[in-house]
Amino acid sequence: DITRETEAERVKASFLSSVSHELRNPLTSIKGFTATVMRDPDMAPEVRNRFLGIVVEESTRMADLIKNLREISELSTSIAPRERKPYHLKEVLLKVSVHLEPMAREKSITIKTTIPEGLQKLFGSPDLIQKVFVNIVGNALKFTPENGRVLLDVSDEGAQIAISVIDNGCGIPEEFRPKVFDRFFRLSPPEGTNPGTGLGLCLAKDIVTSHGGRIEVGDAPDGGACFMVFLPAGDAYVASIIPCPPFQQKTK
Ligand code: ADP
Repeated sequence: DITRETEAERVKASFLSSVSHELRNPLTSIKGFTATVMRDPDMAPEVRNRFLGIVVEESTRMADLIKNLREISELSTSIAPRERKPYHLKEVLLKVSVHLEPMAREKSITIKTTIPEGLQKLFGSPDLIQKVFVNIVGNALKFTPENGRVLLDVSDEGAQIAISVIDNGCGIPEEFRPKVFDRFFRLSPPEGTNPGTGLGLCLAKDIVTSHGGRIEVGDAPDGGACFMVFLPAGDAYVASIIPCPPFQQKTK
């Protein structure tokens, strides 16, 4: 027990240290660029605008980070049982496409979705499952160059539903794949792509695990990335929902 407690303390300390580091970096830029603009009233407008643009970008990063951290902490403390219900995956994926449509249009990327007719219903929180696919498909769009394509392929395997998200972007080198679900993991983004928070896939994995499923990263045939999500279906689906963390219920 003492070993477990010490390990928990170590994980907590390392998490807090990563959070402070991740928050400090954008804050340092915001402070530095704001002070520079204030000190030089005669600064050329284009330079000032560039600096202020960085301030806006870094503030957005901080806001995203705080939002993701809140989502992770909410997930590990209280997912109300009333949020769990039967739902149609097709409806969830439709909402994901609508949400990401502007981003896809901006980069002229086609999202092609294949869903079999009469797909069985799933059980869990459709809102959280939507978050998982907004993140995975959002990443696929982010790391795929203009005019690329993203395939969303659903298959019904009876006891589980398998969903693959395949892109033809920059891909993830094999040696880094085991780490992509770790908190704050990021590779250097391609030129012109904003670095994210490195929390999206960690959150996605927590959510999928809470639903008794699993998430994997693999090879895409043409060098891009391929993420696979497996969600339990059929008779097994309710039984497989894990009742303790992250689906822990608050005790009164
Ligand atoms: P974020 O996207 O906010 O940085 P994520 O946890 O969602 O955080 O992703 C972690 C990292 O995994 C990304 O920064 C990127 O390096 C890599 N990654 C995720 N999805 C893809 C993808 N489809 N193609 C290439 N790299 C990806």
